[in-house]
Amino acid sequence: MTETAIGVVGCAGRMGRLNMTTILASDAARLAGGSEHPDSSWVGKNLASLIEGASREDDSGLTVGGDPRALFAASDVVVDFTTPDASVTHAGLAVESGTALVLGTTGLSVEQQAAVEAAARQVAVVQAANMSLGINLLTILVEQASRSLGPDFDIEVLEMHHRHKVDAPSGTALALGAAAAAGRGVSLDEVAQKVRDGHTGERRRGDIGFATLRGGDVAGEHTVLLAAPGERIELTHKATDRAIFSKGAIRAALWVAGRPPGLYSMRDVLGLG
Ligand code: NAD
Repeated sequence: MTETAIGVVGCAGRMGRLNMTTILASDAARLAGGSEHPDSSWVGKNLASLIEGASREDDSGLTVGGDPRALFAASDVVVDFTTPDASVTHAGLAVESGTALVLGTTGLSVEQQAAVEAAARQVAVVQAANMSLGINLLTILVEQASRSLGPDFDIEVLEMHHRHKVDAPSGTALALGAAAAAGRGVSLDEVAQKVRDGHTGERRRGDIGFATLRGGDVAGEHTVLLAAPGERIELTHKATDRAIFSKGAIRAALWVAGRPPGLYSMRDVLGLG
């Protein structure tokens, strides 16, 4: 079987390192290389030194690159968990080299998202704010619950993440909110209440509210609450190990290699319909 060559941009990051560990553990994948921000002190260092549990056989002599162009050319698929600016650059390089892209970065602006969608018209891109099986199943359950229960149930999305997270609400919380909105046939932008402060007045019927907690090393916890007079449903997912995201990302990379251009989701990858 030919292995899929997977490149990792942002390879010194929390997710970048885990993605490399997952690639090394897969019989179907080969690590094509890794790149970092050109100013990173990791550029030029041995790639294997970033990978937990890497053995001597894994030391292929690859070093951390500072220019992603060569990495895209050497890869069938590139996996990107970096920053929104970097991801837009990487989407352009994916088009230039015809390399498929798995995009996990969150916090993209409307313009940055539009740039990714434009790239996906020319090359295959899997994009998901959360690559775990559990969260992708949860979005389906939330959509169903919101559709079945109707607007008498108030919907709130509560999330907690580690202290290093830079965007809020989390991309996953927004995806869960979007699923709840889809269940009601509305767009999240019309009904989202992302922040409440001061004298807000009563809750507006049909709003989808968000609450954000940050602290410690929490890998990711999300609860969607559906509350009506007299009863409340809470749908919760707790990530206890970030490896669930990298397992999903590498599964997506193996799935997307060789696919026609398009913007694919983890629902497509996991066959969740
Ligand atoms: P991190 O800060 O640990 O890692 C990001 C890495 O990207 C850093 O090493 C940084 O130097 C590097 N980087 C920045 N600019 C770069 C550039 N131009 N070229 C190459 N590398 C560059 O962050 P993290 O916890 O790994 O998270 C990264 C992103 O992934 C965040 O947006 C986070 O929200 C998201 N995330 C998504 C999922 C998911 O399942 N989709 C799961 C976890 C995290």
